[in-house]
Amino acid sequence: MMEKVVIIRYAEIHLKGKNRGYFERIFIINLERALKGLRHELHRTSGRYLVEKFDTARYEEVMERVGRVFGVHSCSEGLLVPNDMDSIFEAAKCVAPASGTFKVETHRADKKFPLTSMEISAEIGGRLLAHNHALKVDVHDPAAHVYVDIRENGTALVFGSYRPGAGGMPVGTAGTGLLLLSGGIDSPVAGYMMAKRGMTVEPLHFHSYPYTNEGAKEKVRELAALLAKYTLVDRLRTVNVAHIQEEIHKHCAADLNVTLLRRFMVRIAERIAGKVGAQCLITGESLGQVASQTMEGLTSSNSVATLPILRPLIGFDKEEIIERARRIGSYETSVLPYEDCCTVFLPEHPAIRPKLSYIEEEEAKLDVEALIEEAMGTLEYIRL
Ligand code: ATP
Ligand code: MG
Repeated sequence: MMEKVVIIRYAEIHLKGKNRGYFERIFIINLERALKGLRHELHRTSGRYLVEKFDTARYEEVMERVGRVFGVHSCSEGLLVPNDMDSIFEAAKCVAPASGTFKVETHRADKKFPLTSMEISAEIGGRLLAHNHALKVDVHDPAAHVYVDIRENGTALVFGSYRPGAGGMPVGTAGTGLLLLSGGIDSPVAGYMMAKRGMTVEPLHFHSYPYTNEGAKEKVRELAALLAKYTLVDRLRTVNVAHIQEEIHKHCAADLNVTLLRRFMVRIAERIAGKVGAQCLITGESLGQVASQTMEGLTSSNSVATLPILRPLIGFDKEEIIERARRIGSYETSVLPYEDCCTVFLPEHPAIRPKLSYIEEEEAKLDVEALIEEAMGTLEYIRL
């Protein structure tokens, strides 16, 4: 009897002492959500998890989905066998390379097992050598490994490699944040980073219909869906801000267009955060990247906020952000051409260091509360 399984090891959860039970419960829920729709069983076993009874033809998909779950340190394709030496050897034959150097490494959770770890490694190694003369043992620098894990329940796991997981903390263990998700490169990366630290990340997008079209919205939906593979949330919120942009354009100094719009975005986002139970806002801003992301620009946004605004990319170069976007898989979608709401009415010379008093003076020309109310009336939910 030999069963193909996926072995999951978790990352930082073990650090959490008394809270460990809580972290693990959420971790399991997240693994189950990631595996939804695939036949499987998930079992916890001496410090790790096993996915069993899945369709082995979909093995890669299981590995991929599990590997994306935050809190997963590594996964392995493994074979589950009874813990007698013959069965372990049968599995070791499947895992061992066809030729070249190798080393057997044994871990023994079951301390009552008749052989020590060293003895198990030596015997399995010896049998493999006798079985295949193209193999050679190298205990110092082997080209391949055969790992044997003797478990406490009468079974053993045999596997050949570790695939790194997403790392981080299980989503749902570090509060909730509302992500201001544009169609650009930065904000999906910002959302990913906070989710990786265990935060539940709920996306919100501002559009400027009819100035921006359905394509722009579809693009953001796609980005949100992509992000949801990691954040495990199931909807995107959208709010129309076209009327706000029109009013700003009509009444306020042109060089403050973006700065003023940002303040509206923050205020509207806070209202929605209240509905969602989010404790902070998250943006993809990076210091000095554009005119609105100077200290003066950030101060202007902060001054209308009561919640903290988390900016995980604040110290990143664009190249670093792009590299992360590529790894996450959002880059290709982010660079598709589209009309962002901020490019509508874009001033030729945006203010780079606007004084707060100047901003407030210009903003006083608007009925801020009424504009926010009108925007809230356009709130829509899109299922991902
Ligand atoms: P990004 O690549 O994320 O679009 P950017 O470099 O283009 O960022 P800005 O357009 O100035 O920078 O936006 C700064 C941040 O403001 C974004 O990272 C995002 O968090 C938020 N933001 C901008 N536009 C929108 C929008 N239309 N809807 C929601 N959030 C937005
Ligand atoms: Mg943008």
